[in-house]
Amino acid sequence: MARSAWCETCSHLWPDEELGPERTCRTCGASLAPRRPAWHFRLLVAGSAVYLLWRLGQGLDWLARYAGRHA
Ligand SMILES: [Zn+2]
Repeated sequence: MARSAWCETCSHLWPDEELGPERTCRTCGASLAPRRPAWHFRLLVAGSAVYLLWRLGQGLDWLARYAGRHA
């Protein structure tokens, strides 16, 4: 499995092949951690998805109550 490194400054995920032996960000030159676990990134995506679904549920609930009042 290919590894990758996350640059917090640029919000960019670099594959190992592009980092080279120095393991520095190509954009800002920051030294990136040797092994940023991939679950960190996936957790962020999953968390955002759950949050958005939760917000969507709240919005629909509000809409249903609003429609009920103004029917
Ligand atoms: Zn960077």
